[in-house]
Amino acid sequence: MNSVRRLGGLAVRTLGVTILLTAQPPNRLTAQDYRAEAIRILRTLPLIDGHNDIPDAIRERGGLDSVNFAVSQPKLMTDIPRLRSGHAGGQFWAAYVPSTTMDSGPHPAVYALEQIDLIHRLCARNSRSMAMAYTAADVQRNFAAGKISCLIGIEGGHAIENSLGALRMFSALGTRYMTLTHWRSLDWAVASTDTAHRGLSAFGKQVVLEMNRLGMLVDLSHVNDQTMSDALHTSRAPIIFSHSSARALTNHARDVPDSILKLVAKNRGVVMVNFNPGFVSEAVRVYGDSVNARLEALRAAGADSATRADSLKAWNARAPHATLQQVADHIEHIRQVAGIDCVGLGSDFDGITEVPVGLEDVSKLPDLIAELLRRGWAETDVKKLAGVNTLRVMREAERVAVAMRSPPRR
Ligand SMILES: [Zn+2]
Repeated sequence: MNSVRRLGGLAVRTLGVTILLTAQPPNRLTAQDYRAEAIRILRTLPLIDGHNDIPDAIRERGGLDSVNFAVSQPKLMTDIPRLRSGHAGGQFWAAYVPSTTMDSGPHPAVYALEQIDLIHRLCARNSRSMAMAYTAADVQRNFAAGKISCLIGIEGGHAIENSLGALRMFSALGTRYMTLTHWRSLDWAVASTDTAHRGLSAFGKQVVLEMNRLGMLVDLSHVNDQTMSDALHTSRAPIIFSHSSARALTNHARDVPDSILKLVAKNRGVVMVNFNPGFVSEAVRVYGDSVNARLEALRAAGADSATRADSLKAWNARAPHATLQQVADHIEHIRQVAGIDCVGLGSDFDGITEVPVGLEDVSKLPDLIAELLRRGWAETDVKKLAGVNTLRVMREAERVAVAMRSPPRR
């Protein structure tokens, strides 16, 4: 809703809010004014978040029968009432597959199938508020009908168990992106935490091209720099980073270095900024590393688990915090290096254990938009960030898929 002030004097239009130049200091919009403006904008287009881990969070709590998503779930970061107050228009739900067979069972593909099943059932159970989406047009249609789009992204290429047939069937089940790795490397793609100096294998490149042919977005969050570069040079469609921030600001391997951001600009992909405090605040990242080193030292010195837990609690109490403003800084950095067409949102809510101050759950998304408006972003630019860029990338991937499936013209 527009907040209009009638104070007398000269009216000007800033950020869609009519304010009046009077004897009072001009352009002193309050935080509520910016949030109201953000919400007005989010009523005109679907805000799309690239990564939310609610499927695995629900699974961990015993499955769909244990969590009523339609009502407030204070222990989670996501539920329908907060998605509504956060003006979420579309959500890629992560069909996360643990990296080790110890956690996923002997068949990661089955684990992925179960996550996909859970997403379909979650959506069906809440069909008054949500609807499945497989294309950009579906997202637009659902948005017009007042529903939140449910999109599926597989997190971890080990889900396909080295089978292009499995990849094709995951696509047939509605999967619209796949993160090539999770924390562990595969024989065809290397994870961000791996020190190996290799990227995609020949089969890895085949996977990328098959994903292009299927219209499935190639997600480069979690992979190492060489794999990012190889995928960007292989893919015929724009790629995404579903939940990664900028390494120039926070020196974490999960974030995207400027050299890759420049390639993303050429590829016309989108980097969806992750809210994970350790990825957006250098102080938090450094502190986290020091806590890990201290824990390791305690373990080496033979400290029992109770002592280690007490120490961890004490250290965590003194830990620095990330802020909403730092997330906005990452967005602005990616905009500066890759361009306004290549930045989006990928919260990682319910996959992260800590949150930035001001971005505690999905209901706070308009506050982030409000912060960018406060920094002087134009309405067209916040729209690009919120959803226009992601919809463009989806449409482009759909177009590439059609072209790759069509027989060549004589
Ligand atoms: Zn992740």
